[in-house]
Amino acid sequence: MSDIGRYRGRFAPSPSGPLHFGSLVAALGSYLDARSLNGDWLLRMEDIDPPREKPGAADAILNTLELFGFEWDEAVLYQSSRIDAYREITGYLTSQGLAYPCSCSRKQVETAGSQGPEGIIYPGTCRHGTEISRATKTLRVVTDSVEISFPDLIHGRFRQDLERDVGDFIVRRADGLYAYQLAVVVDDAFQNITRIVRGSDLLFSTPRQVYLQRLLGLPQPEYSHLPLVMGEDGRKLSKQSLAWPVDASDPLPSLIQAAKFLGQIPPADAPSNLDEFWEWAISSWDNSSVPVQKF
Ligand code: GLU
Repeated sequence: MSDIGRYRGRFAPSPSGPLHFGSLVAALGSYLDARSLNGDWLLRMEDIDPPREKPGAADAILNTLELFGFEWDEAVLYQSSRIDAYREITGYLTSQGLAYPCSCSRKQVETAGSQGPEGIIYPGTCRHGTEISRATKTLRVVTDSVEISFPDLIHGRFRQDLERDVGDFIVRRADGLYAYQLAVVVDDAFQNITRIVRGSDLLFSTPRQVYLQRLLGLPQPEYSHLPLVMGEDGRKLSKQSLAWPVDASDPLPSLIQAAKFLGQIPPADAPSNLDEFWEWAISSWDNSSVPVQKF
């Protein structure tokens, strides 16, 4: 049987801390969506930002997912093993005039750029060349003012004018590390991911990713952006803030809470063990009940 068109989903945590409730929600949403449609579900460890990583976090995340009963297809892909691919792709972008070296410091960008929905909009200072005497710092992709639009399975059509709202964005940082925006696109294509289900904080990053897919001639997956779990301070839970690490010794309550957070309603006779939970959650997953994150 041909595998063309088979659903392939993924969960792609960064090992910046233990799995917290917010990342459990993202893992669960992507898993249930994939499994309810008989899809594959892959794990990718996004470990290309050592300054933000915590020793042991990658193993701890995998261990917790396993204890919770997640089952992944294929070996975990570690982005740290993919640096050659990122180097090759950034080389290609540069050789095609689609990316350029930029010597602006953060301070210079802040002074010259205006505030956009995703931070300071790069004003294009180095687009037509940097001063030779200045050190090259980052590598940026040339954006254009064509509106990028894609259908999100939860939010509906999302639109962004990249040049106006984001500006030429970084694909390799001044410290030589490759940017998330580049690595995620290269690896979603490498792993033949067909549908990406993840937190809504990445909704505003998706146009950059769709744009890179177009520049590189890569297929565009479907997207579904789940609501974010907010802390008491009204901000997204993050691993760095060590917010709400899930209790790996007692997975069921967290799983039920995460499913409810995603708008799924457990039966009156609630699942009393992991097997019952997974059977119920996969067979009754309903994407249309997932609440829409308001911004
Ligand atoms: N590694 C990213 C994070 O942990 C998620 C990447 C993605 O799902 O595209 O926030």
